[in-house]
Amino acid sequence: MAQISAQALPTPAQVARDVLIEAFESFDIERIAISFSGAEDVVLIDLAATILGKDVPVFSLDTGRLHPETYRFLETVRDHYGIRLEVLAPDGAEVTRLVREKGLFSFYRDGHGECCAVRKIEPLRRKLGELDAWITGQRADQSVTRAELPTAQEDVAFSTGDHPIFKFNPLANWTSSDVWDYIRDHDVPYNPLHDAGFLSIGCEPCTRPVGPHEHERNGRWWWENATDKECGLHAQNVAPRHVRIVA
Ligand code: SF4
Repeated sequence: MAQISAQALPTPAQVARDVLIEAFESFDIERIAISFSGAEDVVLIDLAATILGKDVPVFSLDTGRLHPETYRFLETVRDHYGIRLEVLAPDGAEVTRLVREKGLFSFYRDGHGECCAVRKIEPLRRKLGELDAWITGQRADQSVTRAELPTAQEDVAFSTGDHPIFKFNPLANWTSSDVWDYIRDHDVPYNPLHDAGFLSIGCEPCTRPVGPHEHERNGRWWWENATDKECGLHAQNVAPRHVRIVA
């Protein structure tokens, strides 16, 4: 039987870059964008910059509850890559209504669903209304809800009858080590909160550092069950109906 040498196998970066090339070739560049929030997403931007230069399309969701370090980091990434980074805000009237009715920390009592719906899902739905595909830094090993994550899928959570949306997950098969090896090897900027023990970084009230032997998602919505730890951006991971369109 023929032996395949390890050297012949594509590296995680080559696999991810190939997925990005396929994504950018499959959709009008005005109708596809990278969603940026964490370390994985900067790896995506770094890889995409080798394909598109400064024309990498990127958006980020500003929930109004991010750490100060994260706001500064957004600008670091914008300057480092010279990209136009679109920062999306939630609907002010909806935020005002939620806070008036339930206060600033209702998620600790009621679960994170309602607040995430106002601060994340509605702005994302608005943005996806302008796009046909988006690109995320999700990894399969991040959570039990992501274990079957494909590198590309129809986004059934945000598609409508007359407007299908596709989602690419170029890092689906990466490990956390792959991400940090890439960041170190390519001098990719990262959020300084990672050096303070934060592995997975979201909103300030819903993120905490984790210990050396804890899973990274333990630092997110720690008062909830692991199977509920999706904010709705990737709701189909909780009720999966994956459509695999890229091997
Ligand atoms: S992560 Fe927390 S603060 Fe941020 S939108 Fe969700 S519930 Fe609200």
